[in-house]
Amino acid sequence: MQFHTNGYLPGDPHHEPPDPRVAARLQARGPGLPDTVDVLIVGTGPAGLTVAAQLARFAGIDTRVVERRSGPLMHGQADGVAVRSVEMFDTFGFSHLILREAYWVNETTFWRPDPANRNHIVRTGRIQDTADGLSEFPHLIVNQARIHSYFLDTMRHAPSRLEVDYDWQCVGVAVDDNANNTHPVTVTLRRASGEQREVRARYVVGADGARSAVREAIGRQLRGDVAHHAWGVLDLLPLTDFPDIRFKTAIQSGSGRAILIIPREGGHLVRLYVDLGKVPTDDDGRVRQTPLEDVLTVIDEVFRPYTLRAAEVAWFSIYEVAQRLVDGFDDVPDDQRPARTPRVLLAGDACHTHSAKAGQGMNVGMQDGFNLGWKLAAVLEGRASPALLHTYSGERQPVAQILIDFDREWSAMMAAGPRDPAHPERGGVDPDELQRYFERSLRFTAGLGTRYPEGPLIGGSEHQSLATGFPIGERFHSAPVVRVADAKAMELGHVHKADGAWRLYAFADRTETAFNELMTFLASPESPIARFTPPGCDADTVIDLRGIYGRRFREVQVSQLPPALLPKAGRFDLTDYEKAFALGRAGEPDIYELRGIDRQRGALVLVRPDQYVAAVLPLSAHAELTAFLGRFLLPQSSRG
Ligand SMILES: Cc1cc2nc3c(=O)[nH]c(=O)nc-3n(C[C@H](O)[C@H](O)[C@H](O)COP(=O)(O)OP(=O)(O)OC[C@H]3O[C@@H](n4cnc5c(N)ncnc54)[C@H](O)[C@@H]3O)c2cc1C
Repeated sequence: MQFHTNGYLPGDPHHEPPDPRVAARLQARGPGLPDTVDVLIVGTGPAGLTVAAQLARFAGIDTRVVERRSGPLMHGQADGVAVRSVEMFDTFGFSHLILREAYWVNETTFWRPDPANRNHIVRTGRIQDTADGLSEFPHLIVNQARIHSYFLDTMRHAPSRLEVDYDWQCVGVAVDDNANNTHPVTVTLRRASGEQREVRARYVVGADGARSAVREAIGRQLRGDVAHHAWGVLDLLPLTDFPDIRFKTAIQSGSGRAILIIPREGGHLVRLYVDLGKVPTDDDGRVRQTPLEDVLTVIDEVFRPYTLRAAEVAWFSIYEVAQRLVDGFDDVPDDQRPARTPRVLLAGDACHTHSAKAGQGMNVGMQDGFNLGWKLAAVLEGRASPALLHTYSGERQPVAQILIDFDREWSAMMAAGPRDPAHPERGGVDPDELQRYFERSLRFTAGLGTRYPEGPLIGGSEHQSLATGFPIGERFHSAPVVRVADAKAMELGHVHKADGAWRLYAFADRTETAFNELMTFLASPESPIARFTPPGCDADTVIDLRGIYGRRFREVQVSQLPPALLPKAGRFDLTDYEKAFALGRAGEPDIYELRGIDRQRGALVLVRPDQYVAAVLPLSAHAELTAFLGRFLLPQSSRG
């Protein structure tokens, strides 16, 4: 992490210097909710907080977050943290903190009815959870409330010192179509005390969960079906002789009931998802009143011949599986998209609901937020046109559909029960097929199944062969390098911050001729860096250039680095020494090899602020690069 860039500042470098504009705003309008804001975020679940933590970096953007609760979530709800989410947490600077306290899912085991006694279970399978090389991060399990607290800390220590306005429930949203209205969205908010306020916003983010008031107010509907299958969820401290209690475990029992064990952080706590079976169609939610005792009875039955008793139950809930998807992620009907741009955008459970067992709810919600936050910032900072916001629904809705389809299939398999080899006519799922399906889905459940198709923000594949290991449209797959200026071995992808900037990775060609020509171009007034970076801002504010040499780090001298890789930073024009990288020692991982970079011709890899690869181009493609960025970035008056 870089700090002291604008002068020495004592204290915790994680606390960024407060931006004076925030204090000025507070002074001008006093504490409490203002009448107008740029962005109003409704809901402090993972989706809303991911947007808020991004916007908190932009003190010029007046963001407020309202939540009907009186304070932050303390426990319960989700716990599965996909590999992809940990990669995203790294851009917010707290992945190392989560890694330290979370449970790591290293292996998963499978149990089924004992052929000798179908009232007992036996272990039949054990697999590695995250395949080698899938990511530098593991699959984690930690309570959702802990993730919230890291986001809240990030917001609180960001330049805009963003805090949540608790005890404000959104009860109405109205959008004024008058194009001259700078703050066309009016949100009506009510406190538990009954006090009511209206806030007018340029944009509203509806991240208010499965029963979203914002979604309802803009006339969007969740469509899909209820699976009429209920599950109990318990967080408990177990007393047991079950040997795999500290492994993620899928159990199918002879009674047809299933249990999923999710070991939790801290070495003792476990979460059990307990299959409560089919729910009559006229149940009308009565199943949600199922007493804990009944669920504990199912646990007793399923774990035989082992026993499991709860020393303490920290959290208990019953939920019914429903896979539903909203008919649009914003307030613009498809037939009006050419004429209107979104003003109200939905994210997370407000858009898609699914069972908890796939552990996707929180992760996909955060990815919605991570896709939306940088786009809102770019539009509100005048770096992109509002039309950019159309790409949010365009990109995230298909991803949510894939999630719903996966969850429907996986939930049905888990609920079907194990097939009895002696009575295949009674139905059920072959336990081997369940294990195979789980293994096939690991890349998807790791959050790495997303590939945005060619479109406004994703280029064509004509040059993919230059960097086969960075598939266009997929997330940037980090790999080890060594930083030239201080010989630091590190992950290249960890230079990525949730700061709204694009990363431009230039991998040198063998002779470095094309590489050096590119560096000269990028330092020139004609370059896209000059064209799209606001005057007075550091060169890496919008397009953050990184150079990677195909030589070993000791062969590359700082004194020979091109000016484009030694940009000036801050009010003293300090030199930024963290832009150039090279290969490690002989025998150490080689990013050219790992990521299929063409050693002869090199490659240019452009990565979006949300870590997705937007384009792969030849080093000589100066005009194409500028044209591609010009598709969505607005020219800023010349930096000169
Ligand atoms: C009881 C429960 C158990 C769950 N268990 C699991 C699990 O085991 N595993 C898993 O992967 N997922 C689980 N989930 C799903 C997971 O928690 C969600 O997918 C995830 O939290 C979605 O995030 P979100 O930000 O979209 O919404 P939420 O986390 O639901 O957050 C929405 C926020 O908006 C607030 N809000 C709602 N309406 C208003 C309003 N009108 N005005 C102001 N604020 C409002 C709510 O108080 C809440 O804080 C569970 C969800 C619930 C509710």
